[in-house]
Amino acid sequence: MMKRTLISALALVACFIGIQAQTQVIAHRGFWKTEGSAQNSITALEKAAEAEVYGSEFDVLMTSDGTIVVNHDHAIEGMVIAETPYKKLKKLKIKNGEKLPTLKSYLKKGKKLDIQLILEAKPLPTKEMEDQAIATIVKMVKKMGLEKQVEYISFSLNMCEQLAKLTPESEIAYLNGDIAPAELKKKGINGIDYHYNVILNKHPEWVKEAHQQGMKVNVWTVNKEDMMKKLIDMKVDYITTDQPLEAKKLTE
Ligand code: MG
Repeated sequence: MMKRTLISALALVACFIGIQAQTQVIAHRGFWKTEGSAQNSITALEKAAEAEVYGSEFDVLMTSDGTIVVNHDHAIEGMVIAETPYKKLKKLKIKNGEKLPTLKSYLKKGKKLDIQLILEAKPLPTKEMEDQAIATIVKMVKKMGLEKQVEYISFSLNMCEQLAKLTPESEIAYLNGDIAPAELKKKGINGIDYHYNVILNKHPEWVKEAHQQGMKVNVWTVNKEDMMKKLIDMKVDYITTDQPLEAKKLTE
């Protein structure tokens, strides 16, 4: 009995290590290159979960009155999100006919699905707005009990630092490609999520450096198969892509 328990425990450990070492796929702005979907839509989140990838990435911005909405561009139909109250935006439709999603609606749907939610906090006009946005986001995630399912990424070093302060146990990765992993680790930021050119050509040594620091490596936005293969060989942890099905095939 003891022996059998030991063997299953070892198998579990081996399996766990195996899963950890395998590159996994994140659908960039959800899985949107499919019927009925659109970038950063709730449908794209559902389609990413159906595709059984590791995560669905999405972008968030804050309105002038503090509502967090899911959208990539700073302006929508001529209105700058950071300068517009939510009530003026709430009836807007995105490309597949859905209403502009709020973070709350996105997380509510995500909670029902088996997929990681990769939240990109877009830089905002002032540090005060960035700090307010991060505080609002972290509070919502905690209130909804999604601390394990939500991971954070940002081009704003300030936003990453605020996240490290408010939710240090979370996965937090910096996007801008200009800081070595060990430097970020000192700030409590535990991941890099860099453009493929940084990882393939400028600093391939950063993959190892990050892993030595116990950090995760994500690479964006990788849509070509030969590049995906190179990055898988380099043992990056995640590939963020607009072609989640193709990437998934290569990682299986
Ligand atoms: Mg993004």
